[in-house]
Amino acid sequence: MRLLLVEDDRMIGESLQRALRLEGYAVDWVRDAAAADGTLASERFDLVLLDLGLPPGAGAGARPADGLAVLRALRARRDATPVIVLTARDARGDRVAGLDAGADDYLVKPFELDELNARIRAVLRRHAGRAEPVLSAGAVTLDPANRRVTRDGTAVTLSAREFAVLEALLAKPGAVLSRSQLEDRLYGWGEEIESNAVSVYIHQLRRKLGADFIRNVRGVGYFVDGAS
Ligand code: CA
Repeated sequence: MRLLLVEDDRMIGESLQRALRLEGYAVDWVRDAAAADGTLASERFDLVLLDLGLPPGAGAGARPADGLAVLRALRARRDATPVIVLTARDARGDRVAGLDAGADDYLVKPFELDELNARIRAVLRRHAGRAEPVLSAGAVTLDPANRRVTRDGTAVTLSAREFAVLEALLAKPGAVLSRSQLEDRLYGWGEEIESNAVSVYIHQLRRKLGADFIRNVRGVGYFVDGAS
């Protein structure tokens, strides 16, 4: 899963980016409204964490001047990317305005990481049209909350990146994901992409979950069979 973090406070931004990467997300971070707007207009993310109190940023003018304006511009482009807004404790008006501008949820600073992670999972679940928290296909289940994977009821140990690849495939059984779509979910900006990394993770997952569990469409990508 690839997240965009929009936060102007350096300490909050650094600690959130580090913590979310440990959760296995690819996390890109921008610090002002203009950068957020430009990034969201040109790249795809699975979810956005959006601080509302933001500086406008360089080249502002025609660009949105704060977090709320970034959100309004995103929805005006008919972009349905899920957004969780981050607001100050005493800013009830911001929370109402954020939700009414198209946010999916909000968190009041300061917040605990476990609550942020649970809200991210809940918003991603709703966005995918799922009510049940555990992903599954065939004999394999994946629980994003405790990062547990089972095959035929037996726990399977995966690396963080193997887990991320499996989570992306299980999110939409039957849908083919290309190598570059999987790379997008694994790596943030500035992270070196090893050239055959996706093939290596797929190989490891097949070894652990069964040779036929992940299917290959030659030259197109990979999928798991929802009915298997
Ligand atoms: Ca701020």
